[in-house]
Amino acid sequence: MQPFTYVRASTVKEAAATVAAEPEAKFISGGTNLLDLMKLEIERPTHLVDVRRLALDSIEETPEGGLRVGAEVRNSDLAADPRVRSRYPVLSQALLAGASGQIRNKASTAGNLLQRTRCFYFYNRDMPCNKREPGSGCAALEGFNRMHAVLGASEACIAVHPSDMAVAMAALDAEVETAMPDGKTRTIAIGDLHRLPGSTPHVETALGHGEMITAITLPPPPSGRQVYRKVRDRASYAFALVSVAAVVERSGDRVRSARIAMGGVAPKPWRATEAEYVLTGAATSDPAFSEAAESALAGAVGHGGNDFKIPLAKRTIWRTLAAAVESA
Ligand code: SF4
Repeated sequence: MQPFTYVRASTVKEAAATVAAEPEAKFISGGTNLLDLMKLEIERPTHLVDVRRLALDSIEETPEGGLRVGAEVRNSDLAADPRVRSRYPVLSQALLAGASGQIRNKASTAGNLLQRTRCFYFYNRDMPCNKREPGSGCAALEGFNRMHAVLGASEACIAVHPSDMAVAMAALDAEVETAMPDGKTRTIAIGDLHRLPGSTPHVETALGHGEMITAITLPPPPSGRQVYRKVRDRASYAFALVSVAAVVERSGDRVRSARIAMGGVAPKPWRATEAEYVLTGAATSDPAFSEAAESALAGAVGHGGNDFKIPLAKRTIWRTLAAAVESA
């Protein structure tokens, strides 16, 4: 591991300014992803700014009827919060589907959003990887790519974003609050936080250097039944092959409104807006479910090893919608 210096920040402004002052400085919280990457020298920060004690670990009601989740709230605490469990069950389900109990106890809300891909080649410094080393190539394109993206990828990178939590937050239209080194703040829609790879897969988010996530705001809970379904290689401690977060509101035997987000299939949490459009006003059964699934994957492109994800994602959408309307 490359030597680095460490400081514990005492204010948000100080943390942001300290990271901004050094090009290779980074924030650290739970460290559940960053420390692994540092041991492998994939990440080589020269300075770490610890933000765990910045009093950003509370979950508060908003005047609008939503919840404001501090960036330092642990994944376990967020999943177990009674307000989250009752009003945002899709978020609680997604959190509990991710990682292991030990990791959820350490991992922060902001860190979960900012975790990096688990592409095998990204973690192997002997292999070309445009995300790790821009311009070196992408070993996954012709390599072992069964975990990789079928939507939103590029010729430069086909990695997926690994978070479950972020998929649920995408379906809930969460907003990300940040603080910048100059003391200003801004709010970013969760759909705009992560970037598609294009020709610059090493640039993964809309955040500037030194810009720090301080909270995630959940709008008032949407009407309808919320369901998160994750398909993976084993029952726990595995990343999604495909996951679906759905919120379906029904009116009689019709869908009044629908929200669908997918994980495991794209470089960012993937909102299936075409599928939502297809479902709105449709019957709460086939063929509407099948049409929605088809439209969600209409632009999907497989790369050989991950071709199976396209039919798997369609079936997972179908099954998640069925579960959502069954008890809506
Ligand atoms: Fe690197 Fe992305 Fe290719 Fe994986 S898919 S090897 S992360 S460029």
